[in-house]
Amino acid sequence: MIEFAPELKADSVLQERLSSLANVTVIKNAQTTEITGTDKVNGISYKERATEEIHHIELEGVFVQIGLVPNTEWLADTVERTRMGEIVVDKHGATNIPGVFAAGDCTDSTYKQIIISMGSGATAALGAFDYLIRN
Ligand SMILES: Cc1cc2nc3c(=O)[nH]c(=O)nc-3n(C[C@H](O)[C@H](O)[C@H](O)COP(=O)(O)OP(=O)(O)OC[C@H]3O[C@@H](n4cnc5c(N)ncnc54)[C@H](O)[C@@H]3O)c2cc1C
Repeated sequence: MIEFAPELKADSVLQERLSSLANVTVIKNAQTTEITGTDKVNGISYKERATEEIHHIELEGVFVQIGLVPNTEWLADTVERTRMGEIVVDKHGATNIPGVFAAGDCTDSTYKQIIISMGSGATAALGAFDYLIRN
């Protein structure tokens, strides 16, 4: 695992689980510079931020686990979204289209955390239930 920052910021319970895995190496303070390969991935290059030294690791796959842009382009001009692509919801999880609800990181919720997205899922489900019994 390649981490840009000098330290991991995930919940300590998750960090402890990660460090307990024998087949995981954590490389901190490293800037990924390139995913290499022609027909398929064969490695990754990163720069050690402290020394600017470039390293290359041979591997068979990469999981990209970062980014704040939600995968909502497919909604096009349907529900209202912020300029960042987050779905705008009210306190019931309702979008601007009656009967359409949204929850989680893809919405304009202030914080992107597991417990927040779970709560917003419950809110949107209750909001949808409330909408259905009234309509
Ligand atoms: C590296 C990293 C570390 C994190 N660490 C923590 C932490 O320590 N503690 C914490 O509380 N939170 C942490 N988070 C945040 C947490 O993961 C999110 O807040 C949470 O997963 C959001 O849940 P969600 O269900 O809204 O979205 P997601 O978990 O992102 O689930 C969305 C799902 O929708 C799928 N999907 C996307 N587009 C489509 C489509 N068009 N059709 C069908 N399916 C689609 C995706 O594949 C995904 O499975 C971390 C996030 C990252 C990236």
